[in-house]
Amino acid sequence: MEDTIFGKITRGEIPTDFLYEDDLCVVIKDIYPQAPTHVLIIPRKPIPMLNMASEEDQSLLGHLLVVAGKVADQLGVADAFRLVINNGAGGGQTVFHLHLHILAGRDMKEVELASGLA
Ligand code: AMP
Repeated sequence: MEDTIFGKITRGEIPTDFLYEDDLCVVIKDIYPQAPTHVLIIPRKPIPMLNMASEEDQSLLGHLLVVAGKVADQLGVADAFRLVINNGAGGGQTVFHLHLHILAGRDMKEVELASGLA
């Protein structure tokens, strides 16, 4: 399995501000924000893509969703945000270490297929 920038960030090899962290995941600001609020929830375990997650990852995946809700709350966007997982290059994934995007602060009602981030 190839290492990625998110592997280096989660291991602390690239100094990055964590908005939240625990034993299982970290939350960082996206470097190229697609919305006024755009953060990434990254598990410390380097699962390359969601479809490569297995039964043993079930509680981790649930944890990431719980953290997403808490972080949205913490950022003051809990009433209006979008959670996105891009899976595979054709699905818009560019970093092959599973992560969730929280997008908020702009109108999310329109579907934006061209941007890669709906
Ligand atoms: P995806 O296209 O779903 O794989 O999302 C990868 C995201 O990571 C993109 O939105 C990038 O802007 C973001 N990104 C890439 N490198 C970094 C970095 N060093 N720090 C923060 N965000 C990054």
